[in-house]
Amino acid sequence: MSTAQQADLLVRNMDWLLTVDPDRRVIRDAAIAVKNGKFAAVGKTAAIDQAWRADRVVDAKGTVGMPGMIDNHLHSSFQLARGLADESNAQSFLFDHMYPYEAVMGEDDVYASVTLAAVEMLRHGVTCYIEPGNYYPDATVRAVMGAGMRMVLATSCFDRNKAVTGLMPDAMIEDTGRCIAKTEELFEKYPGKHEGRLAVSASFRGMNNSSDELILALKGIAQRHNAILQTHACYSYFTHDASVVQYGMPEIERLESLGVLDENMLVLHGGWLEPHEIALLARRKPTIVCCPSSSLHNGYGNFTVGKHPELMALGVNVSLGADHASSGTVDLVQEMRNCVYGYKEIRLNPRLMPPEQAVEMATINGARGAGLADRVGSVAAGKEADLVLFDATVSEWQPLYNPVSNLVYSATGNTVKHVFVGGEQVVRDGRLTRVDENEIMREVVKAGERITGRLNMKKVMKLRWPVE
Ligand SMILES: [Zn+2]
Repeated sequence: MSTAQQADLLVRNMDWLLTVDPDRRVIRDAAIAVKNGKFAAVGKTAAIDQAWRADRVVDAKGTVGMPGMIDNHLHSSFQLARGLADESNAQSFLFDHMYPYEAVMGEDDVYASVTLAAVEMLRHGVTCYIEPGNYYPDATVRAVMGAGMRMVLATSCFDRNKAVTGLMPDAMIEDTGRCIAKTEELFEKYPGKHEGRLAVSASFRGMNNSSDELILALKGIAQRHNAILQTHACYSYFTHDASVVQYGMPEIERLESLGVLDENMLVLHGGWLEPHEIALLARRKPTIVCCPSSSLHNGYGNFTVGKHPELMALGVNVSLGADHASSGTVDLVQEMRNCVYGYKEIRLNPRLMPPEQAVEMATINGARGAGLADRVGSVAAGKEADLVLFDATVSEWQPLYNPVSNLVYSATGNTVKHVFVGGEQVVRDGRLTRVDENEIMREVVKAGERITGRLNMKKVMKLRWPVE
């Protein structure tokens, strides 16, 4: 008599599985069983075959498995800005390129942009991301949930249009009360919906355009809902300098003086820190989100002056973010490589940032940053079954001696084959299962045409060669 237990799904014969579980087990000839959306068992295929059966079985021969990756910072509404903010310093990036772009977007444009972002993230093995906020949260939710991803939602909050860094478009500024009210609305509307795939956060997007009153009010809301509070901070010399001019102190010190720094805070970038701010971060332990391509693309110096390796050594949780398509890639696999390459080179030290550390940043550290460490971020019994399988039969994965090395130093997200969220297959053979990618691409082209019709393209796009 068979004593095998019934599962909903078995994925068996993975060549390698990087679990990122508490013991960081790497399993050869691996299999998982999924029941009710969660991993029920993780182990060798032979052992899982003996103990489990299921109606649905995926043969994963020739693949390397890992937990679904978690992008801790991605402006999904910037996906249509690819190629529109090149060779721009930090100030010009925001005030000459991204804010004008964002100010001309309507709800249908944001929907097209977020849909494209969701397609790109899932195709590259990202199963959950943190949205820093745009002006159309409902369209954002529709697009992301429609594709089958997880997300941490926020709405955009700025309550001061004037900073020493520049003047923001009027369309993006709301008064403090409005920012607070619309953040409250998200917490009333969304928690508990979408099968637990959606969490809500509070976000003041830029410190120099946010009043103390707004920051404190949003912290209060986040605390009441046990949610994370996020903000961009220290992403370049210019946000640092502006904070010192406007508030008499740099950004992390300002957050400390307001009493909002704690483990439920997400500091986006954190690349420009004064020595005492490193000590503050080590004491308060917010998550710092390193955004490699964002800094490398326009030379913001987050590697040159950044302290992410030291912060990790001090016990601070550091995760990864692709930030936006404005810097090209929205692929956390490439961000892992950008991060370790950047720090090894700038510090002239190959020992810095081994690939295992990059994989932790993209998985379990990202889960902590999202406030979801008990639910996702590793392949372990009891966690939600978010699993990515790479096609390890393609050239960039061969020869396959060391799967962690190949993943970080050689592969790209394009080699993702299958992706599961909560045990549901949302990518099959590199294509999304829930949505029609061809239809999405047609809508993206239309949205791009709408946006280029509203923007002064000569100002935002640089193409130095003659176009016929
Ligand atoms: Zn950002």
